[in-house]
Amino acid sequence: MNRVNLAIIGGGLVGASLAMALQAGAKTRGWKIVLIEPFAPGDTYQPSYDARSTALSFGARQIYQRLGVWQAISRRAEPIKQIHVSDRGRFSTARLSAMEEGVPALGYVVENAWLGQCLWQGLDPDVISWRCPAEVTRMEPLTDGYRLMLNDETTLDCDLAVLADGGRSGLREQLGIGIRKRPYNQSALIANITPSEAHNGMAFERFTDDGPMALLPLPDNRCALVWTRLGMDAQRLAALDERSFLSELQGVFGYRLGTLKQVGARHLYPLSLVEAEEQVRPHLAILGNAAHSLHPIAGQGFNLSLRDAQALADALLASEQALGDFATLQAYREGQRLDQNLTVGFSDQVTRLFGSTQPLVSLGRNLGLLGLDLLPPAKRWFARQAMGLGTRPDV
Ligand SMILES: Cc1cc2nc3c(=O)[nH]c(=O)nc-3n(C[C@H](O)[C@H](O)[C@H](O)COP(=O)(O)OP(=O)(O)OC[C@H]3O[C@@H](n4cnc5c(N)ncnc54)[C@H](O)[C@@H]3O)c2cc1C
Repeated sequence: MNRVNLAIIGGGLVGASLAMALQAGAKTRGWKIVLIEPFAPGDTYQPSYDARSTALSFGARQIYQRLGVWQAISRRAEPIKQIHVSDRGRFSTARLSAMEEGVPALGYVVENAWLGQCLWQGLDPDVISWRCPAEVTRMEPLTDGYRLMLNDETTLDCDLAVLADGGRSGLREQLGIGIRKRPYNQSALIANITPSEAHNGMAFERFTDDGPMALLPLPDNRCALVWTRLGMDAQRLAALDERSFLSELQGVFGYRLGTLKQVGARHLYPLSLVEAEEQVRPHLAILGNAAHSLHPIAGQGFNLSLRDAQALADALLASEQALGDFATLQAYREGQRLDQNLTVGFSDQVTRLFGSTQPLVSLGRNLGLLGLDLLPPAKRWFARQAMGLGTRPDV
């Protein structure tokens, strides 16, 4: 029977980031950490490392800098110099700029595949060992930890189990942890696009009556599209041939980047706001999409999870209690509650406000966008939320 101090279930972007945040302190304490993941790095099918890109906030950059991996990530990260927010069919727009906010960039767009590689390669094999490919099929609470049953017929005991197995977490359900779910009845269509003109580090958020879209700058003058539409409509768009798709996209986005010339593989993600009703139990913590899955349009989901991962690592490493101590885990949860509530609320409000076609809401939205550009404090608040700095008093 194997026993380790800490088992991280799921080696996606969040599980791997937690391992990285823990590894230096774990080495000093002599902790053994195991990361369990069904898909080997470099596999073409890896849910976290598919064709998606992630807009990392300025706050996320600060965390990765602290962990010593930012230099590697930044080699293929495109800085967001400006964000242009517009409402189709209405005249109001707002612009946020890195210069005005006094930061080198409002955020950075990184392909998940690259981010994953940097994280996996940055893990110290003396501290973090992999069980890969392997999947946890069942977990059972013990008086002093958890017992994990793996699909290779082995068993692993740990003092603390961290569940980072994503939004459709079967293990969360198996443990009887309920969820609050609000379906948006929308899907996100994602694809990489090449425009004819240089994006110059400009990110576009465009709100339309049919749903919001974001076009984010990537290296090599490509752009990452996240286009939210009603489920059936997203399926229709995904099935169009390339020319018809680009022509429809051009009609909605306009010519701010010239002609949209090329589109890569299209993928669909059905969207809901899902929150776990419990995030900690004795000897158990839940992180990432398994704890909260957000609408992607505000680009907050991973950034929030990264702050959670860093906070959990800090709490565990600062505690004088044994690993898995419930009071330590509760203190972590309380410390992140405000950040989680504000970030989940911000994403949900932006989604609902800009997803509505009701005339009064549209009018409010129009005035809101105008106000955002005219009133520096409102704009600054929006920019801080978008940069993932909302609740941090130190930056
Ligand atoms: C279209 C889209 C765009 C997005 N854009 C942004 C953005 O710009 N900025 C941002 O901050 N966020 C964004 N997000 C959110 C972000 O993608 C998620 O927050 C992030 O992927 C969550 O990572 P995770 O590691 O929790 O889950 P996942 O990425 O789902 O990883 C879970 C891992 O667990 C493994 N696993 C599953 N079951 C088991 C098991 N039983 N045993 C062991 N391992 C298991 C899986 O193989 C996987 O590797 C976006 C989301 C979507 C859908």
